[in-house]
Amino acid sequence: MAEYSAPLRDMRFALEHLADLAGVVALPGFDHVDADAVHSILEENARFMEDLVAPLNRIGDVQGSVRNDDGTVTTPEGFAAAYKAYVDAGWGGVSFPPEYGGGGFPWLVAIAMQEILTSANMAFSMCPLLNQGAIDMLLHHASEEHRETYLPKMITGEWTGTMNLTEPHAGSDVGALTTRAVPQPDGSYRITGTKIFISFGEHDMSENIIHLVLARTPSAPPGTKGISCFIVPKYLLDDDGTPGERNDVTCVSIEHKMGIKASPTCVLSYGEQGEGAVGYLIGEENAGMRYMFTMMNNARLSVGLEGLSLSERARQMAVAYAKERRQGRAPGAPAGEQSPIVDHPDVRRMLLTMQASIEALRGVIYLNAAALDRASHAADEADRAAGAELADLLTPVSKAWGTDLGVELTSLAIQVYGGMGYIEETGVAQHFRDARIAPIYEGTNGIQAMDLVGRKLPMRAGGAIGDFLARIDALDGDLAAAGDDLASIRSRLADGVAALRTATDWLLANGMANPLDALAGATPYLRLFSVVTGAWTMARQALAASAALADAGPADKAFYEGKVLTARFFCEQLLPPALGLVPSITATNRDLAAASF
Ligand SMILES: Cc1cc2nc3c(=O)[nH]c(=O)nc-3n(C[C@H](O)[C@H](O)[C@H](O)COP(=O)(O)OP(=O)(O)OC[C@H]3O[C@@H](n4cnc5c(N)ncnc54)[C@H](O)[C@@H]3O)c2cc1C
Repeated sequence: MAEYSAPLRDMRFALEHLADLAGVVALPGFDHVDADAVHSILEENARFMEDLVAPLNRIGDVQGSVRNDDGTVTTPEGFAAAYKAYVDAGWGGVSFPPEYGGGGFPWLVAIAMQEILTSANMAFSMCPLLNQGAIDMLLHHASEEHRETYLPKMITGEWTGTMNLTEPHAGSDVGALTTRAVPQPDGSYRITGTKIFISFGEHDMSENIIHLVLARTPSAPPGTKGISCFIVPKYLLDDDGTPGERNDVTCVSIEHKMGIKASPTCVLSYGEQGEGAVGYLIGEENAGMRYMFTMMNNARLSVGLEGLSLSERARQMAVAYAKERRQGRAPGAPAGEQSPIVDHPDVRRMLLTMQASIEALRGVIYLNAAALDRASHAADEADRAAGAELADLLTPVSKAWGTDLGVELTSLAIQVYGGMGYIEETGVAQHFRDARIAPIYEGTNGIQAMDLVGRKLPMRAGGAIGDFLARIDALDGDLAAAGDDLASIRSRLADGVAALRTATDWLLANGMANPLDALAGATPYLRLFSVVTGAWTMARQALAASAALADAGPADKAFYEGKVLTARFFCEQLLPPALGLVPSITATNRDLAAASF
């Protein structure tokens, strides 16, 4: 089975030319970071993940995590040791603030590292991913006392965090949750209730688990306005800050899933043994949902990245297989010989579809991460606002397009393998099974489409999307000047923007009058928006690669020519079908409402 090799050169290209790494590290607060250091860190990170974490991917799938009779959870062979090595190497803290022991690097760098980690082993990556979300929440909203108590150990990864939102009757509808939090005279709370689907809710890889739990206080108003967020440590801390008495949180069971089997997805019961688990309020009562929203962009981006990472790993396997497997005779091949399937045009189409989609998606996701860095670090208020606005627009695209492509491209990799792809031993099917959860969690992709149409389009009464489209238009002059090689990119991109503008104008004009019509077209709109954004990224890729070709030596020439080629393939072959979505977007809600099920 082919192992994983981090695509460092492709990543470097996207970091430098699409996400403006140099501009990001020049932002205030990143004085200690330079672009060369970033590339060295990524190289070292890649070695670690390739050598230690990627080889555990298969065993994790086969063994899965197991709940023992006493409620403990044992992760697959090698996971705990690899996680300890991960903690010892300090990988978890690279992008968190130095005052709590982090490295203070941009989010863009964290995202690039996360791409490698997730390609290496998505189930393993869930532990640092959830911890990262919990750290983010504490950094933004916890008291200084709580930050000092929990963050240093969470940032090293010695303790891991979880996010407890979901309950049996409260999935997408988080406001329906009923877990209770009753205030105590000493200022703490007692938490009772059941949470389901909690990733790494119990495991054997860290000394303590810091659960962040959404719950309602007795006087809370109904719905999302009455949700508060609590810190509930698995082990309560002694006076010296070390884990002591066991808190009343029990892993009742773990789910049997189609993928990410090594990631324990737990049903957690709070307060089974007595009057409730001890919890500590984060910030103010009833502000939990607002706090969740502030960290949503980061979390959704990270989940979108899962689609990219799995597609890349599956692509590498598909390319290796296509070079080895011989079937039929490709056009022009010598008679009497079987050709490697990589020579068949349809297989080349599948491989190039994967490559071009991955490059476009990487560009969008890295750009999204850079926008988050600008939103938090730019010196000027207007630049920060522009960064935040771009991140707001791109986040549903990164999350939904990234995870939909994750499913589509890992499926395509199976197709390249033919029947052997359907056989578990080759390993490619695992990526497809692992990828399937990502369109569901962290806000289903349906919810992302509603977010784009319902919250993002109306930003500045359509001004945010208008500026974004104008930014794509602004590339036209450079594309025209680039000559024949980029001519089809220029014309297809112009067609794409025109279609997106038509759909956007229709939604802005009609969505206010009948929101149901806008919601009915939300998913195809998100797809069109995503593919045009991807095409814009690829046009920028083609321009950057063409410019670099002028001074490239023989060794680099093929690389930059390849970048122009994939950009052209994307714009000529993958963008045009998306234009056909305009009639679906504008079809109104009539038939959806009339259908009976
Ligand atoms: C492996 C795994 C790991 C997870 N990890 C965590 C975790 O760590 N912490 C945590 O809190 N949760 C976690 N979850 C839960 C996950 O976030 C939820 O499954 C997800 O939010 C969807 O909720 P649901 O499953 O109840 O689906 P539902 O909300 O029942 O949705 C079912 C379908 O209805 C659609 N739908 C629902 N409401 C609307 C609406 N208003 N408009 C249009 N369509 C709608 C959805 O898009 C979806 O297609 C995990 C789940 C899994 C499977």
